[in-house]
Amino acid sequence: MKQTRVGVLGIGAVEPALPVLHAEDLGLTRGDGCFEATRVVTDAAGSHRIDHLSEHLDRFDRSCAGLQLPPIDRDAWWLLIDELLQGWSVPGEAMLRLMISRGRESTPAGPITGIATLTPIAAETLRQRAEGISVITLNRGFDCDAFADAPWLLGGVKTLSYAVNVAATREAVRRGANDVIFTSTDGKLLEAPTSTVLWHTGGALHSTPPGASGVLASITQQALFAAAESAGYHCRYLLGTAEDLLSADGAWLVSSGRGVAGITTLDGRTLTDNPAMTGQLTALAGF
Ligand code: PLP
Repeated sequence: MKQTRVGVLGIGAVEPALPVLHAEDLGLTRGDGCFEATRVVTDAAGSHRIDHLSEHLDRFDRSCAGLQLPPIDRDAWWLLIDELLQGWSVPGEAMLRLMISRGRESTPAGPITGIATLTPIAAETLRQRAEGISVITLNRGFDCDAFADAPWLLGGVKTLSYAVNVAATREAVRRGANDVIFTSTDGKLLEAPTSTVLWHTGGALHSTPPGASGVLASITQQALFAAAESAGYHCRYLLGTAEDLLSADGAWLVSSGRGVAGITTLDGRTLTDNPAMTGQLTALAGF
């Protein structure tokens, strides 16, 4: 716990070893809440840069709306983040995580629970970013438009309920791979358990459209598309297939912590290695 900062909304930074949840917290008992995660880069002088914080707070707010939770108190979150950063001088990359739950079951009119943590990015994540990743496809069990007109399915909401996502990642590791791309029952590429899929083919960079597909609208992908368009790339949203990745001239998983990681194999088949484009996209994404 040495290199960890923990903060509680409305209280401030706390000793990281202290318990901060009640046993009846609905985030714990039901996964009823949402979260955000973004990267903090700290230089040797101890100055910090937080990636796309306002976009993450906007998405946090949209997740709260999707869960019928009150809008986030931006000033309170800013204060808490600021306090965590003031005690943080570890040079390099860290993850800032912000979590909201509906609060205690016994006090339905009571406050939400808000927690923030700051931890260094895992060495394995940095290795995968540098060396690429092996990926398997797993069927997510619904059609690619299952989330159209079904707000109760919480498509695009970054909920605390990630048990399926981590189970899928365990399955990838069990099969000797690093990660997963979920596919729909009708064979379309969705997203990875904690990342977004990108591929370059036919002169354009592609990603799965959010909305009816239920995938999370990735802040990394959106920032990358904006920077890539300015650098002359064509960028499109498309419901692709595994075959599209196999014939692409490059495919990647991207996220706020992962950055841009080249996919080296898909279900054991080798994908086109495109180190030049990986380098360009990594720089355009700010990693
Ligand atoms: N999809 C899912 C399910 C995720 O959990 C994440 C990461 O948080 C992403 C995609 C990538 O989103 P972002 O680029 O905003 O980190």
